[in-house]
Order: sequence, then C-alpha cells, then structure tokens
Amino acid sequence: MPAINKAKLMDGRALAKRILEDVAAKVQKIRTATGVAPCLATVLVGDDPASLAYTRMKRKRCEEASVRPLSIELPQGTTTEQLIAEISKLAADASVHGILVQHPVPKPVDKRAAFEVIPLEKDVDGVTSGTLGRVILGMPAFCSCTPRGIMRLLDEYQVELDGAYAAVIGRSPILGRPMASMLINRHATVTLCHSRTRSLPTVVRGADVVIAAVGRPRFVQAGWIKTGAVVIDAGYNPGNIGDVDFEGAIEPASLITPVPGGVGPMTIATLIDQTAAAAAMQLGVEL
Ligand code: NAP
Repeated sequence: MPAINKAKLMDGRALAKRILEDVAAKVQKIRTATGVAPCLATVLVGDDPASLAYTRMKRKRCEEASVRPLSIELPQGTTTEQLIAEISKLAADASVHGILVQHPVPKPVDKRAAFEVIPLEKDVDGVTSGTLGRVILGMPAFCSCTPRGIMRLLDEYQVELDGAYAAVIGRSPILGRPMASMLINRHATVTLCHSRTRSLPTVVRGADVVIAAVGRPRFVQAGWIKTGAVVIDAGYNPGNIGDVDFEGAIEPASLITPVPGGVGPMTIATLIDQTAAAAAMQLGVEL
C-alpha cells in the first residue's frame, strides 16, 4: 500500500479526545454545584453483538467523563408497548438526563413510536421528530450525534461551507437528513442523494464536500471525487470498512476522514457532550 499523506487526514480521534476532556470539566462543575452526576440511560433491545459492543463503548466513554451510565437491557421479544413503558419510566425519572435507544431495534418493534416518547430535553441522541424539526429550522436542539460530530470536524479543519456545493449520500432520519439540514443552515448548497438517485457519480463529481452515509463498503469510488474535495466517510461496515474507497479517494481529496478514527469517535463524544449539556439545563447550571 502506498504511504498515506497524513496532512490530508481529519483526525476525529484527537478532536473527540479534546471534547471529552472538556466534557469532564463541565461534569465536574455540575457535580460541584448540585452534587448530582449527569446520567445517560441506554436502552438496548435484543442481543445484536454490534449493538452490545456499541453500548459497552458508550458506557466506557461515559465513565471516563464521570457521566453515570444506566444500562437497560430488554429481551429480544420485547413489544413496542413494553419498550414505550420502559422509556416512559426514564422520561419521568429526574435522575436521568439523557435517553438513548440503541438502534437498530428488532424488526417487529415500532421504533418511531418508541423514539417519540423521549422528551426533547432528554433526546441527547437527536432521534425524535421534534428534534429533527428544530434542526431543520436551525433552532437550538440536541442534534443527531453523527451529523453534529461531522459539523464539528468540518469546523475544526476550517472547511468553508458558505456557498460550497455538498453531496450527502444517504437520507436516513439520524444521518443524511439532519446532515443536509445542518449544511443548508450553514449556507451550503446541498444535493441529498439516495438509492433512487440517477447519475450519482456525476452528482458527486461536482461536490466540494462529499458526505457518505450509505452503509455499503467502499461504495463511493475514487473516480467520483473532484480534485480538492473534502470527503467525510460516516460509513461503518463490518471489518472497520467505510463507505468510501479510502485508498483511492485520498489522492484527489484535500481532506478525508479515515475509518476508523474519523467520524466514529466524534459521534460518541457528541453524545456525552450533549448529555452533560442536558443535565446542566435540567439542573439549572450554567456551563
Ligand atoms: P440507513 O438508514 O440504512 O440509510 C442508508 C441510506 O443510504 C438510505 O438513505 C439509502 O437510500 C441510501 N443508499 C443505499 N444504497 C444506495 C445506493 N446504491 N445509492 C445511493 N444511496 C443508497 O443507514 P444509516 O443509519 O444512515 O447509516 C449509514 C452508514 O453510516 C452505515 O454504514 C452506518 O453503519 C454508519 N453510521 C455510522 C455512525 C458512526 O458513528 N460512525 C453512526 C450511525 C451510522 P434509500 O433511502 O433510498 O433506501
């Protein structure tokens, strides 16, 4: 493999580490002022190994920042009503400041109905329709963590968004859609692509900023990337493989996120940061 030009890498791991150090200081301030530790409740339904690994990782990061993790593990056969009942308990519990429902949830469960039970002030993973509406309108909200983390990474590397042309590939409610809205709110011109988009390579070839959120390994090809484009790979496929052909795309790109070590760490850091902010708001502490 040819040597990687490290100057082009957007180091999500390093930025996430700094954010988490900052969060630890905020948490200390909250604890000193109130005697209460911010608490993030994670609800996991079933025994999907990848979801189990993600929740363990989130728990570890919480503990590192002195945020109290509360894990609720529900069996595979949990019904929508049972899941809603569990979330409702957390919603009413004043000692819980943030609620995250690990997705994917098993198919028969109506995940949208479950998400909607999370009160806006505890929606630190940004999954409710209320949060998405606020994000679209550019109102204050705890945004979906992956697009919010990507925005922080773009800002860290001083990527000019005003007037830029961005292609977002993927339109999921937790990633592509809020991502497109956040870019539009920063005055980028955005094409939101999906599985029915015609001439996708042509669309991507015009983009100054490419955001891949597809869930298909190495889907975005090097030949689609305009010289000088900024390439953000949100994909996380089995075997630590992104949605972009990294080895090929690094040549034309001016900046690119690696997988792992790019977007992933930013998602978790944003989640913990939003939990601390939610706790501060609920406990009346100014950070
Ligand atoms: P998703 O809900 O499955 O959405 C995938 C999107 O990709 C859909 O909008 C789909 O279009 C589109 N798509 C699929 N095939 C396509 C094609 N051939 N051409 C163009 N678009 C196509 O996935 P997601 O939850 O948004 O996640 C996307 C990726 O990000 C996955 O790899 C996931 O693991 C990763 N992810 C990473 C993090 C992180 O922290 N790093 C967090 C969340 C997700 P349709 O709408 O038309 O079906």
